[in-house]
Amino acid sequence: MFLTITTTGTAERPATDLGFLLHKHPDNAQAFSTSYGTAHVLYPEASAQRCTAALLLEVDTVALVRRGKGRGGAPDAALAQYVNDRPYAASSLLAVALSAVFSSAMRGVCHARPELPEQPRPLRIEVPALPARGGPDLVRKLFEPLGWTVTADPIALDSEFPQWGDSRYVSLVLESESLTLADALRQLYVLLPVLDDAKHYWVAPDEVDKLLRVGEGWLPGHPEHKLITSRYLARRWSLTRQALERLELVRLAEADDSEVEDLDNAVEAETGEEEERPTPLAVQRREAILDRLRACGATRVLDLGCGQGQLVQALLKDVRFTEIVGVDVSMRALTIASRRLKLDRMGERQAARVRLMQGSLAYTDSRLKGYDAAVLSEVVEHLDLPRLPALEYAVFGAARPRTVLVTTPNVEYNVRWETLPAGHTRHADHRFEWTREEFRAWAAAVAERYGYDVEFTPVGPDDPEVGPPTQMAVFTLAGKEEKAA
Ligand code: SAH
Repeated sequence: MFLTITTTGTAERPATDLGFLLHKHPDNAQAFSTSYGTAHVLYPEASAQRCTAALLLEVDTVALVRRGKGRGGAPDAALAQYVNDRPYAASSLLAVALSAVFSSAMRGVCHARPELPEQPRPLRIEVPALPARGGPDLVRKLFEPLGWTVTADPIALDSEFPQWGDSRYVSLVLESESLTLADALRQLYVLLPVLDDAKHYWVAPDEVDKLLRVGEGWLPGHPEHKLITSRYLARRWSLTRQALERLELVRLAEADDSEVEDLDNAVEAETGEEEERPTPLAVQRREAILDRLRACGATRVLDLGCGQGQLVQALLKDVRFTEIVGVDVSMRALTIASRRLKLDRMGERQAARVRLMQGSLAYTDSRLKGYDAAVLSEVVEHLDLPRLPALEYAVFGAARPRTVLVTTPNVEYNVRWETLPAGHTRHADHRFEWTREEFRAWAAAVAERYGYDVEFTPVGPDDPEVGPPTQMAVFTLAGKEEKAA
C-alpha cells in the first residue's frame, strides 16, 4: 500500500521544505507502528529542485482481522479475511496511516517554519493502486473541483487477458499548483476511503465531527458533498443526515461572511475633500474595468479569478454583455459567488448569459478560447512569481482574447495607507506587490512575447509622488484595436 507526494522547488523555495512540512527529515527512513501494521516514510528523491516522500504501509492482515473481531465486526468468509487486497491497494487504511503519521502536516502546523504550511506549492500525488468504486469518472468528479489535474487510469484485471476488462482499481496521479500540503492531505484522508467504499472500519458518532473538521474549507462547497458524506460515513443515514445539515449551516455562514472587509474597501480613498464620502477603491476599480470593457466593444467577457463574483454581478446589470464567464480556483469563492448572483433562482434568459467555472489559471483551458475580453482584477499578485509565466501563457498565449485588463496594487502607494504597517502587503495572500516600474516592465514583456499592445491607466487618486493605489494595464491584440476605443 503506497502513496508518494512530490513537490518541485527553486534555490529560494527548495523542494526539500517538504521535510519540514511533513515533520520527517528527508535523510532518514522512518517506521511507525499503527494498529493495522507498520507505516514507513522515506524519500526516494530529495533535492532543492524536486523532493518525493513515500508513505508505505505494510498491513498486518492478522492484526486487522483480530481488530475487526474485537470490535464486533461481522466475520467475513474465513479465508478472504486473510487473503485480500489490503496489503497492496490504497484503501481507507492508508488514510488512517496518513493521519497517524502526518497529523501535524494535516493540521497545517510547522513550528520550525510557521509560514510554510499556508503557502500553496506544486504538488504531485501518486497512488499506483487505488480501489475506486465508481471508476475514473468518479475519481475526476471528486478531485477536479478541488483544483487538481487528475489522471486516473483504470488497471486491467489481468494484462494478459484484456477481454476480462478493468479491475476496480485505478492508478491515480493528482497535480496542483494552488493547494497547500495540508489541504491535499485532508482531502486524501476523506476521499481515499470514499473511493474505497468498503465498510471495514468502524464509524463512530464522532466521525461527523472529524469529517467537518478535515473537510473545512473544501467539503461544504464541493459539488459531490452529498456522495462524499454518505460514503465517508459508511452510509449510516442518521450520521449522514446530521453531517449534511451541519455542512449546510457552514455554507450559509460562509455566504454571510462573504463581505469580509478587504483593506482596499475599508480604507477610504484619499481625495483630499473631507466632506465628500469617498468611493471605496474596489468600486472605483470595478467602474474603471467596466468603462474599459464598454470602450473596447466587448460583449463576451471572462472574469479570471472572479473571486466572490462582484464584477460578474456588475457585468450582468449591463445587457450589452451577452456572455459572462467567471473562473476561479476556489470552490469556496465560487459557492459564495453563486449565492450572490442567486444563480439557482435566476430567470432563464439571465442564466443563459452567465456561467461560473472552477479552474486554475496556471493551466491552459480550451473553454477559455474565443472571448472578446478577459479581466484579471487583483489576481496576478496571488500567484507565486515562478508560476506567473504559466498564467501568462494560459491567458495571452492560449485563450488569447482580443483585450486583457490586468489590475494589481501599486506598492509605492502603500505608504499612504495609514493602517498598513510598513513593509506589509495589503493582503496576507499577496505573493508580491509591484512598483509602477515593475508592473510596466512585466506588462511590456508579456505584450512583446504574445503580440499585444499595452497601455497603462491609474485607478484611484493619482498621487503626484507615489502614483495611484491600483494600476491597470490594458492589453490589445496587436493590429486589432477597436475603433470605438
Ligand atoms: N477578481 C476579484 C478577486 C480577487 S482575489 C476582485 O477583483 O475582487 C484573487 C482571486 O484569484 C481569488 O478568488 C483566488 O481564488 C483566485 N486565484 C488565485 N490563484 C488562482 C489560479 N491559479 N487560478 C484561478 N484563480 C486563482
